[in-house]
Amino acid sequence: MSLLLDNVSYNYPGSTHGLHDVSLDVRTGELVAVIGPSGSGKSTLLKLVSGLETGHSGRIALDGADMSRTPVHQRHIGMVFQSYALFPHLSVLDNVAYGLKLRKVAVAERRRRAQELLGIVGLGEYAQRAVAQLSGGQQQRVALARALAIDPRALLLDEPLSALDASVRGHLRDQIRSIQQRFNATTLLVTHDQEEALVMADRVTMLKDGRLLQIATPRDIYENP
Ligand code: ADP
Ligand code: ADP
Repeated sequence: MSLLLDNVSYNYPGSTHGLHDVSLDVRTGELVAVIGPSGSGKSTLLKLVSGLETGHSGRIALDGADMSRTPVHQRHIGMVFQSYALFPHLSVLDNVAYGLKLRKVAVAERRRRAQELLGIVGLGEYAQRAVAQLSGGQQQRVALARALAIDPRALLLDEPLSALDASVRGHLRDQIRSIQQRFNATTLLVTHDQEEALVMADRVTMLKDGRLLQIATPRDIYENP
């Protein structure tokens, strides 16, 4: 699945803030990191791709199909948020299976699939635990499993490591990257952490005041900083 943004612009109502003429092509299985300071438009970009915010001009397309009129839950996009956004009253397994339940997958199949994904993120033994009993890093792995469970057409990672201790962050960077590659998931990673972007991404782009400045591989950036 490829994700294409073609001249996407968006203004918040009554405001000049938003996104301005953003064009970006994320190829199948590619991880593109978007860096930029607070207020540069990173969340706005993810909200438009996910459909949480609507009313942009330009085109947002998944595998060539325009998403503008596709409601959030039909876009088939997996999301991971800084704050995990798990359901605290549900077990780990039920959290991972949640998106499948919404999509009316049968109970046995969604349990099987959720258990399989928990195994992949290294939490197979934690299926019946309450989410609140898990560490931050574990909760973020549950969130990743939940995002992948729906077999997403694109994966959006919104500051997925920002809430975690530095000691956990490094390990989870590697783990998220290797799982993303294993699933060949077309991924947008938003972060304010430049090093994280350089370590994890195939290509890195920068947002400033709602505009995308440049896009380059980490190697290009290291060699020509
Ligand atoms: P980032 O995620 O990079 O911190 P945002 O996408 O949240 O940036 O915000 C981009 C710009 O749009 C900022 O100037 C912000 O103040 C403004 N903005 C964000 N949300 C709204 C909103 N609901 N209404 C008006 N302005 C907003
Ligand atoms: P982030 O930087 O992680 O996007 P913020 O704390 O900037 O988060 O924003 C939190 C919420 O407030 C978002 O939903 C955003 O759309 C909204 N928001 C941000 N800036 C503005 C603004 N200038 N006016 C109205 N809402 C805003």
